[in-house]
Amino acid sequence: MPNYVDLHTHSTASDGIYTPAELLHRAKDAGLRVLALTDHDSTDGLQEAAQVAGKLDIDLIPGIEINTDVAGGEVHVLGYFLEYERLAFQGVLKVLRDARVRRGQRMVELLNEQGVAISWERVREIAQGSVGRPHIAQALMEAGYVQSIGEAFDKYIGKGCSAYVPRYKLTPVDAVRFIASANGLPVIAHPLELPGLEELRKWLPGLCEAGMLGLETYYGAYTDEEVQTLRALADEYHLIPTGGSDFHGPGIHPTPLGGRHVPYETVDRLKAEAMKRHGKTPPSFELPPPVEEK
Ligand code: AMP
Ligand code: ZN
Ligand code: FE
Ligand code: FE
Repeated sequence: MPNYVDLHTHSTASDGIYTPAELLHRAKDAGLRVLALTDHDSTDGLQEAAQVAGKLDIDLIPGIEINTDVAGGEVHVLGYFLEYERLAFQGVLKVLRDARVRRGQRMVELLNEQGVAISWERVREIAQGSVGRPHIAQALMEAGYVQSIGEAFDKYIGKGCSAYVPRYKLTPVDAVRFIASANGLPVIAHPLELPGLEELRKWLPGLCEAGMLGLETYYGAYTDEEVQTLRALADEYHLIPTGGSDFHGPGIHPTPLGGRHVPYETVDRLKAEAMKRHGKTPPSFELPPPVEEK
């Protein structure tokens, strides 16, 4: 049976390989009926995606992914069914993306100081939207300094490496509040990545209090056993179990587009929550001062 639902994907609006239109066509080819586009710190791909989705009869869920910092790793927060045209919401996204630009420039400077000759201009050409380390990795690969994106992270730009620079990030609770400020539904992304489940458990009560609504359970290559653990955790905290491939392009993450079964019930539950919020005045969100990276 084909998979009909994929709730975690990236396009050229951030660090995905395909334009939103190309992504939708590939989703159609993969047999998907529901697709969420969840670019990093950007909703700029959503309009194009929605237009093509309409033609292909795919149900497009507007989404986003916000990377936040905690001790020992990053917690990524997905947001679904955003009223993303709200001006205050776009204003905060612009601040987050501008911080990515400054940080990217600084990372290229550090590489240059180490004798690694890639240019910021090239990185900016590769990155058509929200700039990320994968774009710097691609420039490193093109220039022959590394053989793969993974090697670029291991050798130069991963946390703790010689050209790594932290950037302005929200705390997980602020990411939840930020998504709620566009009447969106906040969901914890790939909960088994660093800092790991044990650490995340400490955060869960506070995150739920702030309005967390879901837990990404059917993710990428998580095993049946891992999915069971996450399902139990979702039930314990009354979170909606969501899921998706985290597709960025072929060979970037292990799971192909639509390569993970996500129950259709998840979409119904998210839609029911979105219906409760939409059109209402959302809580306001004020950007907090920068936090030190831990
Ligand atoms: P940034 O948002 O600029 O800090 O870059 C982080 C993004 O890079 C993540 O969201 C992943 O999509 C990607 N990424 C992180 N680590 C790796 C890795 N080892 N190999 C490939 N991509 C990675
Ligand atoms: Zn990414
Ligand atoms: Fe992520
Ligand atoms: Fe992602």
